[in-house]
Amino acid sequence: MKKAKKIDLDGLADKISKAQSILIATHENPDGDGLGSILALGKGLKKLGKKVTIYSKDHVPKMYQFLPGQNAIVSQLKKSARYDLSFIVDLGEIERVGEEFLNFPHRGVTISLDHHARGVHNADFNYCLPKCASSGEVIFKVIKRLNISLDKAMATAIYTAIVTDTGSFKYSNTTEETFAVASELVSHKVDVWQVALHCFETSSQARMELLKRVIGKMQIHSSKKIAWIVLKQSDYKATGALPEEAEGFINYPRSIEGVEVAIAFKEKERGVYRISLRSKTYVDVATVAQGFDGGGHIRAAGCTIEGKFEDVQKKLIAAIQKQI
Ligand code: 5GP
Ligand code: MN
Repeated sequence: MKKAKKIDLDGLADKISKAQSILIATHENPDGDGLGSILALGKGLKKLGKKVTIYSKDHVPKMYQFLPGQNAIVSQLKKSARYDLSFIVDLGEIERVGEEFLNFPHRGVTISLDHHARGVHNADFNYCLPKCASSGEVIFKVIKRLNISLDKAMATAIYTAIVTDTGSFKYSNTTEETFAVASELVSHKVDVWQVALHCFETSSQARMELLKRVIGKMQIHSSKKIAWIVLKQSDYKATGALPEEAEGFINYPRSIEGVEVAIAFKEKERGVYRISLRSKTYVDVATVAQGFDGGGHIRAAGCTIEGKFEDVQKKLIAAIQKQI
């Protein structure tokens, strides 16, 4: 597997100045950080007169549809399009951008802009700042280096990236710099309550029904250190909720006193489970996820495991127990 060459801000500025048409993409099942980051970068590069396409393989979840400019995000690449430069944002592994992008022959030089400390970063070039709580902060630095003026839409997009990846400035990835960047963003008239309302304080009735079902079946391991929830296709069907509406549910098992690792098993299809992992203070869940070809951060990671539910559960819990 190819490993990307490191690039710095000057190198990035040079590549951007020489490019005319630029493609910007984020990972599958996009989140607030991925979407906020690509929207802010896209708008910034347009201000420099670049021809920009913003791409996400998967649709924008309803909770992020308040983001200015999100309706311009495309989910298919035009065969006739030619790009001098492509950015992949908020992914440690290029595979998470999806097959269409990977097989697209005209994407030009591909640069990863990211903050995953454990990422493989297998693009052509890599600008990764693991100390940043979000890719939004990485984009903020790029925008500053390019002397692009921030506006309310860009500031709102980056602010959304930050609040979602830090859980509203709560997680251990939050630093003094995170607050400093947020403070500058808010000076550009970000409506912080509107962002919070959309990202954290709005539930459809179906989502609440799903939460009731899932919490009712939450389980705790005999060690009392691992707790999990299971989201089956039948749960979505029974409640009418979408899989993306389970965002944040994993915080409930993690919040139990004494629990160190929380798991969400999300049935994607029969025999295929998307796994979300969270830890409270010491277990490195990125390592656990990497053991199943996934990845992420030390306190938040994910992977996909195939098999019968009982086997998937057994394998994963055994891997977590080794870290506890
Ligand atoms: P979530 O549980 O919210 O889906 O994902 C948490 C974090 O884990 C993401 O921000 C991402 O860094 C990482 N992650 C989730 N799923 C995968 C996966 O399938 N592969 C990799 N490499 N990372 C993942
Ligand atoms: Mn991120």
